[in-house]
Amino acid sequence: MNPTGIYHRLPYPLKVAAATIWGGYLNWWRYSKHTEAAVDEALEKDTWHRERIEAWQEEKLAKLLSIAAAEVPYYSNYWQSQRRIGNRSSIEVLKNWPVLRKEIVRENPQLFKTQSRKLFYREHTSGTTGSPLVLWQSRSTLQAWYSLFEARIRRWNDLNRSDRWGMLGGQLVTPFDRKDPPFWVWNQASRQLYLSAYHLSEDTASAYAEAMHKHRLVYLLGYPSALTALAEFALSKGISLPKLKCVISNAEPLFDYQRKIIAHAFQTRIVNTYGMSELVCAASECSSGSMHLWPEAGLVEILAEESDTAEPEGSSGRIIATGLLNQDMPLIRYDTGDLGALAHRDCPCGRQHPILGELVGRMDEMIITLDGRKIGRLDPVFKTDIPVREAQIIQEDLYSIKVLLVPGLGYDHDSLLQQRLRERVGDMKITIQQVREIPRGANGKFRAVISHVKEP
Ligand SMILES: [Zn+2]
Repeated sequence: MNPTGIYHRLPYPLKVAAATIWGGYLNWWRYSKHTEAAVDEALEKDTWHRERIEAWQEEKLAKLLSIAAAEVPYYSNYWQSQRRIGNRSSIEVLKNWPVLRKEIVRENPQLFKTQSRKLFYREHTSGTTGSPLVLWQSRSTLQAWYSLFEARIRRWNDLNRSDRWGMLGGQLVTPFDRKDPPFWVWNQASRQLYLSAYHLSEDTASAYAEAMHKHRLVYLLGYPSALTALAEFALSKGISLPKLKCVISNAEPLFDYQRKIIAHAFQTRIVNTYGMSELVCAASECSSGSMHLWPEAGLVEILAEESDTAEPEGSSGRIIATGLLNQDMPLIRYDTGDLGALAHRDCPCGRQHPILGELVGRMDEMIITLDGRKIGRLDPVFKTDIPVREAQIIQEDLYSIKVLLVPGLGYDHDSLLQQRLRERVGDMKITIQQVREIPRGANGKFRAVISHVKEP
């Protein structure tokens, strides 16, 4: 669902029209006349006691597990084979279900589709590790998800969908080699200024600030790596940033040093969020600084890194989530690939949703370009039909990057991949090396980006 291939080369007025039409199309998928009622419902659940929330989740879970066992090929096959080998354990108990690794979904997405469902929005994502993943989500699932976003990210922070906002992200809204503004596009349907994270540099930072002033943004959402870069440039060059209600961090872990720099530069509150395209769980930060899980999105377990045993409360481990929203593609005990801890302590804000802490997953490094820009995420280059199972981008020096790649069936896309990378990082030497697997780090995960370049 990445529109940039279509319009990033259009001239500016046409680009605004294209972005606005695209935004309107996305809005149709995401919102309906029932959105407001769903937002109210979510906000009302924020007042519920823990026992009531858990009972409500149990009921949703029971329905999901029975659909999965009966109608989802991967799970019905699993339970049939378990019965054949004499496993009589109950399908009604979540812990009796296997932990699901992302690779299984990546390799066999069709096996996870509920048989009786028809209309889907097909999301093709690189996930968080640079490996592509196909997901199916119906319009009602997406609407449920976006009503939670509206309630627990916007309303918690006194914002709503009609506020003008900025998004600093990884979509290529303008060609890489463009030297002059605009490096952004206004999407009137969503009242959103989409700002390219790729063009941010010491030289362009003041133009970004001006665009944000000019479009009278109320808040800004973005990758913390890009927000930090903008904040650093603004502080070092004395650039005046607009007065925003808050800055929302998404898609990457937010480190304390980043929060400090962003808060200092913008002189406003920073709100952290956690979520993923698979829609299996999500959390957002309350005014007391706790990351509360969204009970409607999913159930979270924390399991040990080396085995599938549960970690005691408060200890960190793998975040395993069972998505409650998407009954068209149930993902049960799904290993998110992230690390974190879970606590059930009381929060001064009064909400009793469990609190997610020590989020250390998704540790990507940055590519530093010759002209001094820092690029934190390059995974959108894989958000396409290129059949790649895994990829890792390694920056060896300022002039060259190497892509390690595990090709999928029919892979023959070296030059397309090089072109897409060059659009983002500039004229570097890009070598692509096919490998059988990407070497894993100490925790068994691999990093999407590794840089051997020390910052100047
Ligand atoms: Zn709280």
